[in-house]
Formats: sequence, structure tokens, C-alpha cells
Amino acid sequence: MPRGVAKRDLPTKTCPVCQRPFAWRKKWERDWENVIYCSDRCRRTGK
Ligand SMILES: [Zn+2]
Repeated sequence: MPRGVAKRDLPTKTCPVCQRPFAWRKKWERDWENVIYCSDRCRRTGK
């Protein structure tokens, strides 16, 4: 995570299951490129 990035500048993706945009989260900081779904629930649904 680059320093000095404002919250509004956090990267976002669109979840293919619920079609909602979701923003970068701290827990994904090492795995953001592999994050596809907004939540575990959508990940299970999207399988
Ligand atoms: Zn979702």
C-alpha cells in the first residue's frame, strides 16, 4: 500500500456476483490483484 493515498483514491473493483463496486480493504493488501468478489458470500455464490 503506497503511503499517503487518500481514502477516496483507494482502488475499486466491481463484484461480478452482486454487480456492486467495492473498495480496497486492508485485509487484501497482499492479495488485491487476486480479489474478484466483494465478500466471502459472493465468492461462494460465484463459484
Ligand atoms: Zn459481491
